[in-house]
Amino acid sequence: TLFRSDRKVHNGEKQMNTKAEGDAMVRVVNLYKSFGAIEVLRGINFDVARGEVVCIIGPSGSGKSTLLRCINLLETAQKGHIYIDGQPIGFSVNSDGTLVRAKDKEINLVRTEIGMVFQQFNLWPHKNALGNIIEGPVVVRKIPREEAIAAATVLLDKVGLTDKALSYPETLSGGQQQRVAIARALAMEPKIMLFDEVTSALDPELVKEVLDVMKQLASEGMTMLVVTHEMGFAHEVADRVVFMDEGMVVEEGHPNVLLTQPKNERTRKFLHAVLGK
Ligand code: ADP
Ligand code: MG
Repeated sequence: TLFRSDRKVHNGEKQMNTKAEGDAMVRVVNLYKSFGAIEVLRGINFDVARGEVVCIIGPSGSGKSTLLRCINLLETAQKGHIYIDGQPIGFSVNSDGTLVRAKDKEINLVRTEIGMVFQQFNLWPHKNALGNIIEGPVVVRKIPREEAIAAATVLLDKVGLTDKALSYPETLSGGQQQRVAIARALAMEPKIMLFDEVTSALDPELVKEVLDVMKQLASEGMTMLVVTHEMGFAHEVADRVVFMDEGMVVEEGHPNVLLTQPKNERTRKFLHAVLGK
């Protein structure tokens, strides 16, 4: 399709311009996370380059959500480090180069730079679409209300919901609510967007409208880390696919390679189970 060839040009540009050494927007180094006796992440390493779209696939319980929650500091890992745009998150760097745990204020600041969209839309039910979108900019970023409304109006247009600005979540379809949630995350002008199975709770006929918004974002150069079961989306939009199993990155690669000729037996088994081939 037209979209696919657009994307290829985009990828080519990125390879020339942005894959420079040290240009990772996200760098995860040797990350370990346990809940009690359960080891959920067992030494995760990977990067997301600036402007790159990485899809994470893997069986239920493999630690995908926990990984995103660690990146967004909703969880604290026991071991390892995460860097966003070169800055260690959850830690600050001492003058001697050692890392110390960051203060809450610093953690909250970093979190404003990371947009996250969840399977459940988590919109504020007592606020309309516009109110949901301007809340972060006005309350956290202290942007003047009029300015925040102007920016939110642009974002509502971007996600195709100009006519729903004054609608409350309960009157919106799941797909519309999820698009408001995406606009709300974008309103904070994040450096990266994290998506955790954002279409899994939607009726099948509403999935496409949300994936289309995500494709559009990708084509505009947003850095995206996307946990998904939508293999078609991963194949079409991802620059790289990461397969996780049992708290580890088992295999990663270009979607054309990983999704069609996986090297690892576990990847093969998983793809066979979800794609039936
Ligand atoms: P995925 O998103 O790949 O399905 P999760 O990251 O949600 O996997 O979960 C990985 C494992 O961690 C599961 O066994 C899950 O039960 C466990 N887990 C996740 N969050 C918690 C928690 N807050 N307390 C205890 N166990 C948890
Ligand atoms: Mg999950």
